[in-house]
Order: sequence, then structure tokens, then C-alpha cells
Amino acid sequence: MKDFDHWALWSPEFGKQIIAPWVTGHCYPASWGEQATERPETEFRKAKMLADLPPREVHQSYPFPPKDGSNEPHIPDRLIPTFLLLHDPPEPPVMQVDFDDVRDAETGRVTEEVREIVDRLDAFTEISQSGEGLHVFVRAELPGGLGKFIADLDEAGAIEMYDHGRIVGATWEHVDGTPTTVPERQDVVEELIETYESEQQRDRRERRAAKSDADSWESNTSGIEAAIRNRETESSDRSPYFDIDIRSVADTGEFRRYRSEAPGDQWQGPHPDHGPIHSAPGECTNFGIDPTANTWFCFAHESGGRAIELAAVLADEVDVCCRDLPSNAAQSGWLGDRPLEMLKTCLWLRDRAGIDDETKPPHAALLGVSDLQDVHVRDRDQGILGERNAELCQLLFDELSVDDV
Ligand SMILES: [Zn+2]
Repeated sequence: MKDFDHWALWSPEFGKQIIAPWVTGHCYPASWGEQATERPETEFRKAKMLADLPPREVHQSYPFPPKDGSNEPHIPDRLIPTFLLLHDPPEPPVMQVDFDDVRDAETGRVTEEVREIVDRLDAFTEISQSGEGLHVFVRAELPGGLGKFIADLDEAGAIEMYDHGRIVGATWEHVDGTPTTVPERQDVVEELIETYESEQQRDRRERRAAKSDADSWESNTSGIEAAIRNRETESSDRSPYFDIDIRSVADTGEFRRYRSEAPGDQWQGPHPDHGPIHSAPGECTNFGIDPTANTWFCFAHESGGRAIELAAVLADEVDVCCRDLPSNAAQSGWLGDRPLEMLKTCLWLRDRAGIDDETKPPHAALLGVSDLQDVHVRDRDQGILGERNAELCQLLFDELSVDDV
């Protein structure tokens, strides 16, 4: 794992957030997503070097966020290098096999069932943060592009397997007697899935496998040209609404009045919408933006995202509160799952934040239009608009204003 440049820092005190001061210039949570601009990972050496410094010393160059409702920085006891299972993993991917509630934190005893699986995996194994679980790292890929597999074990606890898009809350507390290597274990992983998957999981896996066979057959028959065409549409499909400058949206309200520049080009101050919760506005830093990563974070509600998610919070017409948003709203496509809110947010941005009329809204906003105007939609269940319907919804979008919705 040390050979891969997939490393970041975390602290159990901050929960499963990653810290990447080499990118952000601070120790506030770093954003991490599928976009090329959200790449916090670095080489092992760099992460380890900072983790080995006393956090108080790290704070001198890379400040930690303030404790909620105070001006005191929250400096954790320790920083731990952690591994990211990337959204675009190597082949075969590094996989985390996670066992929860299977170990007695005091005696170190694990169930017979788990002992047997760990023996078969025969790879680096560590004790989890709670002391009640184990993490095993192997090289393997989940079949059918599942991304994750979660199931109950027979004796006690659960098994979870992840092969991409995951923050590993690593402890590096090695379980004696297990290897210190991360070997390829595709066969064992497939056996485990067959043993523990439910009927429903099996159905879904088989359906996906059949679909990916069909897809690859199709792309083989239509050749490389089609593949290139697909890639072009994919990139031109990405709406510029996702890339709006965070400063242009955040710089309003009490944030505009009281914000100050923190080291590393960061701005912090009271939240532009709900302002301070405990302290006076001049002293409040419950909100921060990172113009380099083009993201924001609210420390009062542990929410965050891009400019478009902040716009949803700021716009009175949009029924989204700061506390509703998850901290990974951007990464999880939270707003995209709410077509009407997405539509209102985009209309609000277009009309008040000076977005160009020609700018193509996200597909979810067009789905919002189709819900609103009863456009007959093919495959609405899958969240897909046919090409003609998308064009029609785009025309309607241009005519709509946020007050019409
Ligand atoms: Zn908030």
C-alpha cells in the first residue's frame, strides 16, 4: 500500500473526514470526489511525515478548525495516515474487508467464524478504532461493479467489503500473526460473497453481470469510434453549474461582513445564511470556504459541498437547510436526487448570481422541469430523459423563473 500515492490523514476525533494540508493548506476537512479537482491523496512519505509531528506543531503551519462555538482551535491527540480506496482504483483494486462487532475489545477474542475467514484471507489485518472490529486489506475486485458488499455473519457481527470510493479509518494496530503484505485474494472474496449474500443481493449481482456482458458486447461491435464519441458526450454533458466559483456565491450576508482570510488562501467567518450559533458574528468562524478546492464547509452542521449546494441553502425559495445537507453532499450527488430543489437552485443561480442564459443546467434540473410541466418521460424511473425530452425541458427551463416553481 505504501507504493501507491493514495494517502491522506485522519483523526478519530473528527470522524471519517480526511485531512490533506498538502492540498488545502490547513487541517480542516478536505473534500474528495470523483472530479479531477478533488484529489487530496498523496504519497505515503508525505502523509507519514505530518502524522509523526505533534499535532500542535502541525497547527502552526496548517491550522485546525475551531471547536464548535468557540475560538479555540480543535487540535486532536494524533493524526493517522490513512489510505483512500480511490474512485478510479488500480487493478486489481486494494480492497478493505471490514468486520464489525466481532471482537471483544478487552480480551481480544474474535468469533471462530471470523478467525476462519481471516485465516483464509491471510493478509495484513488490523484492529479497528472501536476495538470491536477488524480490517483486512487484500487485492481483489467486487464482482459486477458492486462497489460495496455488506452482509450479516452467522455467529455475530457483519462483514463489509469495499473496493473503491471509500475512506479507510485506519489504525495500523496490526493483529499479531497476520502477514504485513496485501496479497491478491480474488477467489476468497468471491467465495465469501457466495456464502453470505442474500437472495436479493444475488439477483442484483447476476443482473449487473448480465448487463455488463451486454454492454461490452455492444461496444465491441460498434468499435473505437463510438467509444470516443461517448467520452466526448460525457465530458460535454457536465453542467457548468457544478463549477461556479464558491466565492461568488458565499460572499454575502454576515460572512461578507466579517470574513477573514486564514492561511492558505482560505476564508472563514460566520455562515452566510444562518450566521453564528453561539458566538458574536465578529468572532464566529463556523463557516469556511476553500477557493482552491472550490468548496465550503459549515462546522456547526458538518455540512458542505460546492457552490451549487450552498446556493440551495442560501436561496429562500429552495427548501434546503444547512443542517439537512450531508458533509459529502457534492460527492454523493445529494441535490441531484432532488430534481425540484435542483431546478429551483439553478433558476436562482441563473437569475441572481449572473449565470449566462446559455449555460446548460444539470440533468437533474431538467428532470425537475419534466416533473413540473408533466413532460412525458421515457424511463423516468431510471432518472433518464430522452434526448428530445431533454431539449424540450431545456427550452422550458429558459422560460421559467424561480417564482414560477
Ligand atoms: Zn450550517
